[in-house]
Amino acid sequence: MKLDKAPDAPAPSGQAIEVRELRKSFGDLQVLKGIDLTVGRGDVVCVIGPSGSGKSTLLRCVNLLEEPTSGTVTVAGTEVTDPDVDIDRVRRRIGMVFQSFNLFPHLTALENLTIAQRRVLRRSKGEAERIARANLARVGLVDKEQSYPAQLSGGQQQRVAIARALSMDPELMLFDEPTSALDPELVGDVLAVMRSLAREGMTMLVVTHEMSFAREVADRVVFMDDGVIVEEGTPERVVGDPQHERTRLFLARVL
Ligand code: ADP
Ligand code: MG
Repeated sequence: MKLDKAPDAPAPSGQAIEVRELRKSFGDLQVLKGIDLTVGRGDVVCVIGPSGSGKSTLLRCVNLLEEPTSGTVTVAGTEVTDPDVDIDRVRRRIGMVFQSFNLFPHLTALENLTIAQRRVLRRSKGEAERIARANLARVGLVDKEQSYPAQLSGGQQQRVAIARALSMDPELMLFDEPTSALDPELVGDVLAVMRSLAREGMTMLVVTHEMSFAREVADRVVFMDDGVIVEEGTPERVVGDPQHERTRLFLARVL
């Protein structure tokens, strides 16, 4: 029962994300077939699974880039699937980092970080730049603020994208295969930034094929296949000692 719909009301359960009975179809194609998932505040949850299993769709339903067909998604106490909810306000609280960095090519790194702060959060130029510089420092790119995306490596561009998301003061971060488009030698720097974010207590839901990252950083690993969560648990359990054949087959291919 929804007693309080105030967007900033604390979660009664204290969870950062609660997904209940989530289903999503595209036409006749059922992509999510009843997902239940809880992410606690400050937790890092890694989602693994084969291509086409619905991982991106799950993330996109959490920040309403996709409209769920049925079920509920609650983010920090706000049921975002409630039709009365202000979607823009919800999205503002969630940072999202994609496989493709999605930076504005005609803007410098600094400008990529300030534009949404100014337009969406109405921060002054000075304040937005101060916050942008602090976040560029956080991802190890203080000296790149005047660079355009084309002048940066893929790994640097992805770190700018992370810094951009952080500049909006998100309550949680969604990562959708953030290192999949990178040359192998650039993956480490991006994972290092994500690791330090996790250490700082950021709530993170991360779709990744980086099993060493999942093992080292995740509080929980969720294995998805064909629109369902097949199993979830600690990395030691799911990656180290999978209970299901489908999980074993998948891990045999990626490990
Ligand atoms: P994953 O991220 O695990 O690879 P996705 O969530 O991207 O999987 O996709 C799951 C399935 O949903 C795939 O079969 C994909 O083709 C389909 N799908 C995803 N988005 C759309 C869309 N906008 N329209 C139609 N089908 C889609
Ligand atoms: Mg995907």
